[in-house]
Amino acid sequence: MTTKVPSDFSKMTEGEALYSLGVRATKKDGKKGLNMPIPGKPGESLFIPASDEKPDAIVASNRKQDRVQGAKKTRCHDCRCKVWISPATQEMLKRYPGTPVICIPCFVKRTEAENKQKKEAE
Ligand SMILES: [Zn+2]
Repeated sequence: MTTKVPSDFSKMTEGEALYSLGVRATKKDGKKGLNMPIPGKPGESLFIPASDEKPDAIVASNRKQDRVQGAKKTRCHDCRCKVWISPATQEMLKRYPGTPVICIPCFVKRTEAENKQKKEAE
């Protein structure tokens, strides 16, 4: 995979890392959410609705240099690659125990699959 991402992820939170990947807060059909560009598909993006409910998954970075102070190593629920979870994410895991932690590529895959299912259901 040759996804181009900025190289200096050090000391970033997942939120900042996502922001640096081009993810932006947005609104669609009156719903708040995030707009995430699809790696390898310029001009295309995914809309991820925001929710106060238990998340389906927590996104963590799989790059060693994304490690922030206090970050803990774990494995991506989907592909078993090593990911780093920041203290902020660890708090989220405490709030929603049992939520799978997944890496950014798996998050994109999941969201794409969900959107496809939704389209097919329409
Ligand atoms: Zn993964």
